[in-house]
Amino acid sequence: MAIGASLEIDGVSKYYKKFAAVDKVSFSVEKGEFFTILGPSGSGKTSLLKLIAGFEEADQGCIHLNGIDITHIKAFRRDIGMLFQNYALFPHLSVFDNVAYPLKNRKFSKSEIKEKVKDVLKMVKLDGFEARFPKQLSGGQQQRVALARAIVYDPPLLLLDEPLSALDKNLRQQMQMEIKRIQKKVGITTICVTHDQEEALTMSDRVCVMNQGGIVQIDTPEQLYTFPKSKFVAEFIGETNLIRGTVASATRTQAAVQTEGDVALSVNLPADGDKANWKPGQEIWIAVRPEHIHVVTQPDQFDTILDGTVEETIYVGEAIKAKVKTSFGKELHMKVSTNYAAHLKSGMPIRVGWDSHHVSLIPDDHAEAAPTDKSVEPQVAV
Ligand code: ADP
Ligand code: MG
Repeated sequence: MAIGASLEIDGVSKYYKKFAAVDKVSFSVEKGEFFTILGPSGSGKTSLLKLIAGFEEADQGCIHLNGIDITHIKAFRRDIGMLFQNYALFPHLSVFDNVAYPLKNRKFSKSEIKEKVKDVLKMVKLDGFEARFPKQLSGGQQQRVALARAIVYDPPLLLLDEPLSALDKNLRQQMQMEIKRIQKKVGITTICVTHDQEEALTMSDRVCVMNQGGIVQIDTPEQLYTFPKSKFVAEFIGETNLIRGTVASATRTQAAVQTEGDVALSVNLPADGDKANWKPGQEIWIAVRPEHIHVVTQPDQFDTILDGTVEETIYVGEAIKAKVKTSFGKELHMKVSTNYAAHLKSGMPIRVGWDSHHVSLIPDDHAEAAPTDKSVEPQVAV
């Protein structure tokens, strides 16, 4: 089976007229890595993938595959495996012939074709389905045939563009695990494009967040979730509470922050030497995830404790989501386990708290332009 290739993207841009769909993008993907490009619709994900596949040519920068410059090489010579949302199996061909198609094109011998198709169908758990036609398969099975067809000839790289967005939620989650399993087993370097943050976090070794043609942050799913480096990422990945504040003082490991409502709190800074150089007086946001805000039952239980009132509770199965209004008028969203939350009623007073290692500090990129009127409610993503 294939051994993955490495990929290097260096200062790559793609313009449509004067509009930069991809704007000076640089990153590298390691051999065997599952690398996801995540971003809202229109952020340039598909455009970037097309540049890698060779369906479009970069206007600037270069692309290296396994150390070889492929920037101006035609798509068919790059020989990259692709899987798209509308996976377009040939309806008049059997499963066997669909999967054999790229091998026949590449002039593999009959016996090699038979063996490779057999192996790959086993890999995607469709052995025994050789004679069926696409319309005799479920959506998930069709998708697995398409995946088998994309990897059967051992391409150096596999590109996936929103491969699961046509499937319903359960099937999508099943296929996420399935693709990840196959990808790790084969060891094929994979670049996946999605606008679905849950999909990105589930499947990837690293995630590259894109916005407006540029890269906003590249990190492991854990790092991205725990230490978003911008308000955009904090809001785009998961749910979060954003509270406006100002840095009072900072060391390399900890910052003291004064937030709206005059709350003094401390924030542990990530140990990986986050380059942000926090300065006293600097306007920032602090971000706290709903699952890290807890009901306080004993004094001194948490680093930060706030008084408030329960405004609303919503039952979501495994947990209860509660909206709490703090004494200084800030609405916080918290997620409490169902057992524990049974007694939460709207209108009741509550103390909530969190620990400083669950708070992340985010520079306020638009501090200059931000309204100075403190009554303006900062945005909370839910
Ligand atoms: P995504 O896949 O993240 O949704 P795309 O890469 O498809 O985004 O598109 C990025 C931006 O480039 C969009 O604003 C889109 O309208 C524009 N764009 C994409 N392809 C073309 C094209 N062939 N001609 C003109 N504009 C394009
Ligand atoms: Mg797209």
